[in-house]
Amino acid sequence: MSWTGSTVIVARTTELAEQLLADRELRCPLCRTGQLVGWGYGRRRTVRDRDGTTVTVRPRRTRCQSCSSTHIVMPAALQPRHADTTAVIGTALLHKLKGLGYRSIAATIDRPVSTVRRWLRRLPPAHLERLYQDGTRQLLALNPDTFSALRNTGNMLHHALAILSAAAHWDRHRYAIDDPPWTLIGMYTRGRLLAPPA
Ligand SMILES: [Zn+2]
Repeated sequence: MSWTGSTVIVARTTELAEQLLADRELRCPLCRTGQLVGWGYGRRRTVRDRDGTTVTVRPRRTRCQSCSSTHIVMPAALQPRHADTTAVIGTALLHKLKGLGYRSIAATIDRPVSTVRRWLRRLPPAHLERLYQDGTRQLLALNPDTFSALRNTGNMLHHALAILSAAAHWDRHRYAIDDPPWTLIGMYTRGRLLAPPA
């Protein structure tokens, strides 16, 4: 899946994105000043979710009134350019933390071995550092005490996911948000749970 020529903006939910668009509160990520307006829709796509279910979305396309660039708005439950939801890929990462190899993970979550192996290759140190920073930013704003209490185990993937999960927990708790934790984590990490292909 690709959207050549368009950048991807991640919104917590499709409904929220529509609301922000209607309120003219979405800014252009390219020129950073222009206002985004609705510009039709991207291609409808169906991605695989957990437990054999699927999610179908028709992503909103937007256009900047200032620089005319177009941008696709994706809900955070999905990972742009991936055929599986944030929750599915996140679950694979949790299995990796438990010590499972890509073959076992593929069998456990019922996905092709090649797909899971590709995911696990997209966790270079610089990306784990980025996930850690994304989580840190959120958790410090939500609950600095929890941040201080989390010890770094030396495993950067573990540390990053622990911080992101704690942030999602406090976000849901504090703001009574119903969205699943993986959706919030998808939001914090701007749709990039995995690094882009090298
Ligand atoms: Zn612009």
